[in-house]
Amino acid sequence: MTQPALDFVIAALERIREKDSRAPRASRTALALLQAAPVAASLREACRSPTERRLEAPDKADSLAAVRERVGACTKCAHLACSRTQTVFGVGNPDADLMFIGEAPGADEDREGEPFVGRAGQLLTRILKAMNFAREDVYIANILKCRPDMPAGSFGNRPPTPTEMQTCRPYLMEQIEIIQPSVLVALGAVAVEGLLGTRGTMRELRGRWHTYNSIPLMITYHPAYLLRNQAPSEKRKVWEDMLQVLERLEQPISDRQRNYFL
Ligand code: SF4
Repeated sequence: MTQPALDFVIAALERIREKDSRAPRASRTALALLQAAPVAASLREACRSPTERRLEAPDKADSLAAVRERVGACTKCAHLACSRTQTVFGVGNPDADLMFIGEAPGADEDREGEPFVGRAGQLLTRILKAMNFAREDVYIANILKCRPDMPAGSFGNRPPTPTEMQTCRPYLMEQIEIIQPSVLVALGAVAVEGLLGTRGTMRELRGRWHTYNSIPLMITYHPAYLLRNQAPSEKRKVWEDMLQVLERLEQPISDRQRNYFL
């Protein structure tokens, strides 16, 4: 069989696989001829079902576990490796459609080893619940995997420096690459700077779609900002951003949700 003829057969089989619920079929003789052809490998690839492809793909949880192990032993920022209680890798569903990105672990996260578990994290969990999601449905990670260190005897948290974020960013890129979410949400201007490398005010950035590696990216306020600023107008802005996320994910939105104020 000539190359153009084989290309035609492969294209036809691909169309059947995409549109028809039945698997493509061929006679034994036709299969024997096709098997002998030099492009048999590409034909076999075209005939594999989506399930077969999924089964052969590396497991996302395993891939994430491998990155987590490297992060756990990371000492690229010597000062943070010395001061951290533990690294804070990320949490949630490896197959999540929706992934949230914050800036860095605080004291609570450093103690628990999980992102967004303090007061701001509890507010994020409430926002997710209002969206009809549980924490286990989405994936949550930070730009930085170690808590930014604080001077001895001082309390509170500090934002990560641009250098710290640049150093740690490849781990987040790997997480996104493995999870392949349909939508990303960056929480706060520092997370945006860590992810996109651009600085901007939240007034300029939030409420509209951006992209990261072709993935739609919504930028909204960090929940900690809402804890500091309890004005209903600010809470409503975040909720409007989340409504856009739900629309993008093609999730049903009730009237109650449309009129909701956080
Ligand atoms: S912040 Fe990231 S790059 Fe720096 S030591 Fe921690 S895990 Fe490594």
